Amino acid sequence: MKLIFEKSREGRCGVSLPELDVPLRKGLLDSELVRDELDLPEVSEVDVIRHYTKLSCRNFGVDSGFYPLGSCTMKYNPKVNEDVSRYSGFIDCHPLQPYNQGCLKLMYHLEKMLCEICGMDAFTLQPAAGAHGELTGLMIIKAYFSDKGEIRSKIITPDSSHGTNPASISMCGFETVQINSDDKGQVDIGELKEVLDSNVAAVMLTIPNTLGIFEEDILEITRLVHDNGSLVYMDGANMNALLGYVKPGDMGVDVMHLNLHKTFSTPHGGGGPGAGPVGVKRDLSKFLPNPSIVLNDDIYEFSNSSKSIGKVRAFYGSFGVMVKAFSYIRALGSEGLRKVSENAVLNANYLKERLKGDYNLPYDSLCKHEFVLSDEGLPNGVATLDIAKRLLDYGIHPMTVYFPLIVKGAMMIEPNETESKETLDNFVDVMKKIRVEIDNNPSLVLEAPSNTVVKRLDAVKAARELNLTYKRE
Ligand SMILES: *Cc1c(COP(=O)(O)O)cnc(C)c1O
Repeated sequence: MKLIFEKSREGRCGVSLPELDVPLRKGLLDSELVRDELDLPEVSEVDVIRHYTKLSCRNFGVDSGFYPLGSCTMKYNPKVNEDVSRYSGFIDCHPLQPYNQGCLKLMYHLEKMLCEICGMDAFTLQPAAGAHGELTGLMIIKAYFSDKGEIRSKIITPDSSHGTNPASISMCGFETVQINSDDKGQVDIGELKEVLDSNVAAVMLTIPNTLGIFEEDILEITRLVHDNGSLVYMDGANMNALLGYVKPGDMGVDVMHLNLHKTFSTPHGGGGPGAGPVGVKRDLSKFLPNPSIVLNDDIYEFSNSSKSIGKVRAFYGSFGVMVKAFSYIRALGSEGLRKVSENAVLNANYLKERLKGDYNLPYDSLCKHEFVLSDEGLPNGVATLDIAKRLLDYGIHPMTVYFPLIVKGAMMIEPNETESKETLDNFVDVMKKIRVEIDNNPSLVLEAPSNTVVKRLDAVKAARELNLTYKRE
């Protein structure tokens, strides 16, 4: 850079340029100083751009290919919702700007639409993630019992619940009581009855659970729990399997959360902002985080409840994510939302049926948005990790592996609602090819990946000896 700059100043082509006092010059000199100190290499701009463009092409994302990560819902989120969330009327608002009617109106109506979709009476949009919603919901449950003067210290959760559930239970200061699933992958009602006592504050269920299975006995479960004076919490992160068909509130759910960054048009993962709104039944609404948004004489305003658990997030939560959810729900309408769950369930069952002859399917029943295969019985020492690595050779992002823990060598596959039949068929073809390789040429799978930029990494070494410091020799 320095070389080019100096030459041009001298007028390399015989053109003499006037000395100008351009402010940019000072900035450049500063960066030259920094560069000298860091001893960075001399490269031209075009080489730098090509280098980073090449690196960026090594990334894999929802826009580059199929991404069947179970429990994560990496789907096509219409780009138009990104555009809407960037309207200047939204992004130029400052959170300290008092009573911005447009933003409050959007949030108020989004809450109302989520109530309608879920059969709940009130929602808060504050929590920033699914796990944050769980913590908020459990704090509400705690406040509910302490307001009644009751001490209840235990939360029951099945072994098929999402991993964040027991973590949130502990974080909120409750004791986790784990119950086993039965051979259909559902809550074992007998076991539930045994542990339901006067110390149980709530039962926390992931629906559909991490096996992708819906609790068929949900009405009996919620009745048993309510008869015990306890509440029902539903982890609704994967509502894309139920939209328009099931309202959790109608099943007896008292508290639940959604993941807007799974179901409602914000990409999941990558460290971007998310939102885990929490919905409650009327009796619990006074415990929701402050402030809530109310409509008085055509004015949207804040209202604080003296029984509230307090604020759980600075300002109002992830507002841009709310705009995308609002725009997504309005664009799809109630019929569109039903189609979402129809396609999510159809796609998952299609893959499950086509693959179950080649791989072990421990819970063989109608699934919802995802299903779980096992590496049980595979010959030649091939395990789930090898299959995941071999998928990379075929340009497919692996499924979620080794979760849930109740399946040996779990391969958790979620095609989601937006993948075409061609994409699903290609995935099936590749999985079947890999199955043949496992029998006839196992080293291809055991040594995979072979045509990626880096070969198989030493994951244990990376975890144990994490060293991210760059030292120039
Ligand atoms: C993703 C997920 C969560 C956690 O959501 P985060 O936003 O990652 O905290 C909780 N429960 C279920 C069922 C999930 O799929």
